Amino acid sequence: KYLPDVADTLPYDIRARNSLLNLARSLRGIHFPSDLNHSKEAYRRLAFEEFFLFQILLFLKKLRKRQYSGLVHRVEGPLSEGFLKRLPFELTSAQIRVINEIKQDMVRPLPMNRLLQGDVGSGKTIVAMFASVCAIQSGYQVAFMVPTELLAQQHYQNCCRLLNGVNIALLIGSLARAKKSSLYKEIEEGKAQLIIGTHSLLEEKLNFKKLGLVIIDEQHKFGVSQRAYLPQRGENPDALIMTATPIPRTLAITLYGDLDISVLDELPPSRRPVKTEFVAPDKRRQVYSFIEEKINQGGQAYIVYPIIEESRALDLQAASRMYDILKKEIFPNFNIALVHGQLNTKQQQKIMSEFRDGKINVLVATTVLEVGIDVPNASVMVIENAERFGLSQLHQLRGRIGRGEQKSYCILISQLQTEEARLRIKAMIRNSDGFRIAEEDLKIRGPGEFFGQRQHGLSELKIANPLTQFQLLRLAREEARQLVNSDPELKLKQNLTIREKIIQKFRGYEKYETVG
Ligand code: ADP
Ligand code: MG
Repeated sequence: KYLPDVADTLPYDIRARNSLLNLARSLRGIHFPSDLNHSKEAYRRLAFEEFFLFQILLFLKKLRKRQYSGLVHRVEGPLSEGFLKRLPFELTSAQIRVINEIKQDMVRPLPMNRLLQGDVGSGKTIVAMFASVCAIQSGYQVAFMVPTELLAQQHYQNCCRLLNGVNIALLIGSLARAKKSSLYKEIEEGKAQLIIGTHSLLEEKLNFKKLGLVIIDEQHKFGVSQRAYLPQRGENPDALIMTATPIPRTLAITLYGDLDISVLDELPPSRRPVKTEFVAPDKRRQVYSFIEEKINQGGQAYIVYPIIEESRALDLQAASRMYDILKKEIFPNFNIALVHGQLNTKQQQKIMSEFRDGKINVLVATTVLEVGIDVPNASVMVIENAERFGLSQLHQLRGRIGRGEQKSYCILISQLQTEEARLRIKAMIRNSDGFRIAEEDLKIRGPGEFFGQRQHGLSELKIANPLTQFQLLRLAREEARQLVNSDPELKLKQNLTIREKIIQKFRGYEKYETVG
């Protein structure tokens, strides 16, 4: 009855160019299709509209960021040249390409908003260090935020090793009060040039003198507002966001269309493929003998137990109990230690550095290992109750090995009680590439679960599916680009309906800003 009154969102010429039904006919088509083709075309048109509106929103956000003037950094200079010259290895061609993309961003008088996607171990840290020295040689400070204290420590040590002549500060929660306030002072006075830290960098009391670059490592570990906070602490600083959970291109465009995206799609030659095997729990003894053999050949091993928030106390108990058994009964002749998130950083740090120095043979650990840890001599990883880890977690954990000379082995032990667990473990055995694994994960869980509820306008897409409709997304994105170019404020009369629809559909989307 009311169908004739439905006003179309899409202007005629966009419909004509992309062979789209009009809105009234599409609404009829999804409810009362006259034939199969009518139904198909109706869904296609409605999916296009969703993509189109969302892409307009992203282009508008991008445009708005471009209106601010940004900082012009010097990307050639003694500091950056010295850094590259002293690197103990050759950069991969992917690293060179991404460094060039970042250089172009940094010299332009516009704020950089770049997402760096790269698989575990693809060498993102070096790229981040390069961007840092550029900002520092231009007279600015750099804030480098990471999710765990362990990782902050590791980055701090690496930066101290590779960056000559830079004043580096480590700001973590566990510092003594006096030490912290003297660091605050150094940061406020501009003496500290590169500040590496955890969530502690988000303290309101902390002021920067001249913040020129914000780097966020393992961005998926931070909440959206946490990521947005740091860039506001300077005058439109450049921002480099890094993630090791690479996602397929269609999804990247759908979600992060307002960011520029760089991809490190090559692993350094020092990375070795890891052999992954599934072992049933009743064969555990064989796994222990295998570990023993590898240690006798000079290797080191991780044994990982799951600890999930909901059952943290119980899980921790289970892990400690197993640790006692391993220590007393299984590996009485080896040095073995337990590291978990409840230990304070000093304790964690001590264990990690003993492990790195080879004084510990077997490290029993929880997911504190998940991000970033880099100990090349460790070549075996056993993951217990593997079914309790998500696919990207398993991939992250496995990324801790395969970093040294020896061949590395990842052994997944599980009861395989559910179909989903079986699929995940199969995916791990078959794939080593993080992009492929993310795709499998998306297939198994669907995008909603994959990204969690709080993420983005993704949950507003009711009909469009970015995983399967890449062509349609491309068409919609191109139309959105043209529309925003020709009418950046959506003021023209023919675009008012579009404007209204966007406001309706993505109300509250601003909360989900990806960066600044
Ligand atoms: P991720 O991308 O997971 O953060 P890292 O930056 O921690 O990876 O790098 C992993 C390891 O690879 C580090 O030990 C790093 O020094 C090393 N590395 C990085 N780039 C190269 C390279 N081009 N050649 C050899 N080793 C490299
Ligand atoms: Mg890293």
